[in-house]
Amino acid sequence: MGDALQLSKYSIGVGDRFSHQGKAQLRACVMAAENGAEVIPVWNKSNREHTIIGSVPASARAAADEAVKTLGWRKPYYVDADHINIKTVDRFIDACDFYTIDVADLIGQPSDPAAVDAFAKRHPELTGNLHLPGVDHPFQIDLGMVIQVAAKYLAAVHEAGVIYRHVAEMKGKCRFITEVSMDETDSPQTPVELLIILAAVADEEIGIQTIAPKFTGRFNKGVDYVGDPAKFSEEFSNDIAAIAFAVQQYGLPGSLKLSVHSGSDKFLIYRPIHNALKKFDAGVHLKTAGTTWLEELIGLAEAGGEGLGLAKEIYGGAYSHREELCAPYATVIDIDPAKLPAPAAVAQWSSEQFVSALRHDPKCPAYNNSLRQLLHVGFKVAAKMGARYVDLLSVMETTIAKNVTENLFTRHIKPVFIGE
Ligand SMILES: [Zn+2]
Repeated sequence: MGDALQLSKYSIGVGDRFSHQGKAQLRACVMAAENGAEVIPVWNKSNREHTIIGSVPASARAAADEAVKTLGWRKPYYVDADHINIKTVDRFIDACDFYTIDVADLIGQPSDPAAVDAFAKRHPELTGNLHLPGVDHPFQIDLGMVIQVAAKYLAAVHEAGVIYRHVAEMKGKCRFITEVSMDETDSPQTPVELLIILAAVADEEIGIQTIAPKFTGRFNKGVDYVGDPAKFSEEFSNDIAAIAFAVQQYGLPGSLKLSVHSGSDKFLIYRPIHNALKKFDAGVHLKTAGTTWLEELIGLAEAGGEGLGLAKEIYGGAYSHREELCAPYATVIDIDPAKLPAPAAVAQWSSEQFVSALRHDPKCPAYNNSLRQLLHVGFKVAAKMGARYVDLLSVMETTIAKNVTENLFTRHIKPVFIGE
């Protein structure tokens, strides 16, 4: 069986919709290493993305392998079957070594009352005044609360166990990293709920290394955090403490850490995340997704000529199909239609105008977060262009790569992992 794969303290999930930016993304991790931070790359792509693009998991694996070979990266790297469930996991078995088991749909599904009862009896340590490491106030948990939380989450955790064992059977138990995600749901999980969930995860003997709860506040696609950063900060710290407690108490892997499904670009909470990691000497997995695809568009627009033309055409296509494109993402975007410029106006824009409307620079007056969100979900328009789109990515690789690397390193890796 060999040694179990163990995820490093710091890791970054990078989405690469069209599998052309692996090298540019990996270069950001190389720069992190040069600045004293080991940040392990994980290329994540969900079944939904593969379906929309018309790609297969093997292509994500090939792109990752090629980037690693070209840059001579000697540290670990992973390919993540992002947000899989029991119905979609099988096509990811050969290509992936990281599985994000998404059981959010089962939250609140009725649990077997006998199982809930047995859980509460098995975990007397959860009730009373609970002191979590590094938190000055105790959490008061009574039996009723344990039963209520268990009833809400046991079915989801049980399903995570089923999927984990399924993957383990196909790949071998220690040959992959396991994440459990519950972020795609309506209400956030509290630190106490997280702790109870982890007790159940331990009972299921899931070799969990990252867990993605839903945090407080809004995590819209490609744009900044909406909510109270101070409240987030407290919750995030308490979550870390709950994990530390669960590792000690239940023998979960020592590498267990939070995974933040950021939806990309949550600049307002990057500083609080960094501070909490330092305070607790904890790790984190920061998952980004569409930010790289938007840098591709920025690079095309910046290159001018045909690139700018194509970027405008994609905006036009996204604008006229916006209802269809936005529907699957309705809960994670807030677009103000009045703020969307008409495609005819955009057609007159210079490179600079297009780039400054799209680039996520909150201080720039021309930055337009409605346009950015629309383009974030608009990758289907580019996918439909097929070779016309991807061929231009190769032609304009230099300009695009510069934007992809700079964005990941300066706006994401630096504030979260290096603290600048
Ligand atoms: Zn997610």
